[in-house]
Amino acid sequence: MHGVHGLHHITAISGPAQENVDFYAGVLGMRLVKKSVNQDDPGTYHLFYADAEGHPGTDLTFFPWKQMAPPRIGHGLATEVALEIPPGSIDYWGTRLQKYAVRVEGVETRFGNRTIALTDPHGLRVALVEGADGSRRAFAPWNGSPVPPERQVRGLHGAQVWERDPEVTAAFLTGVLGFVRFGEENGWTRFGFPDSAGVVDLREAKDARRGAWGVGSVHHLAWRVADAGEQLAVREQIEQAGANATPVIDRFWFKSVYFKEPGGVLFEIATDGPGFAVDEDPAHLGEALVLPPWLETARDRIEAVLPPLTLPALTSH
Ligand code: ZN
Repeated sequence: MHGVHGLHHITAISGPAQENVDFYAGVLGMRLVKKSVNQDDPGTYHLFYADAEGHPGTDLTFFPWKQMAPPRIGHGLATEVALEIPPGSIDYWGTRLQKYAVRVEGVETRFGNRTIALTDPHGLRVALVEGADGSRRAFAPWNGSPVPPERQVRGLHGAQVWERDPEVTAAFLTGVLGFVRFGEENGWTRFGFPDSAGVVDLREAKDARRGAWGVGSVHHLAWRVADAGEQLAVREQIEQAGANATPVIDRFWFKSVYFKEPGGVLFEIATDGPGFAVDEDPAHLGEALVLPPWLETARDRIEAVLPPLTLPALTSH
């Protein structure tokens, strides 16, 4: 059986784009590695934050759909994103979040890792998790970050998902996508990979309503495959398991296939390559608006409707 290899990226829905940039590039100090548009809704940005090189597994992306209502938290929805921070950095982050008046729930221990749970400016729940995956991920520090390299966000750690029937999803994760069941704690069951970073924690939410997207919710979870051949093989397994997968869609920086897992959460499988440097100088990632070729002829109109964005000025560490 072919399987996926950890998290590739997570995409969420935010409010106004500039506030999103200020928080993820400014407060959290991630690098804006790609400034593009939603390919199905080109009047909306698609903003990608990652490590300096945009390694697969470091990448949190947003659609700023500020006109949307807040989400309906419920089953079939990913309800929190976890980012990995280096071991021993939780006090640094606690102080930094306080300095920027971020809503923080406090420090707790989850599956043995110290964690700060916070809410971003548009209501997305984010957890900063100390040192869970360090040796299992590629990471390049971003010298333009306001956060010093030894404290920087290392990449995606995982996501929490509510399910009406977690066992059905669990069987799909392990039987079709190659996840391993890691263990249980406080009502959450964790699934992940021995050799790559990225976990998903499932919780039974039988009596909850069906969740729905909104500003401050996760849109989808994308999982890594090595190349186009492996993607087709995993896609075939997904279809044989009875889920409807889209054809392969070329996102230029990777190729994508989308489907819903049995509980209703939108998943994607995305190839590791070619990566964010395929259409920009690696030294200047994210500085200019990048459009897919079929939208280049409409660049003037697209730029006219997108709000201008300013990257946070580099302040002292
Ligand atoms: Zn995606």
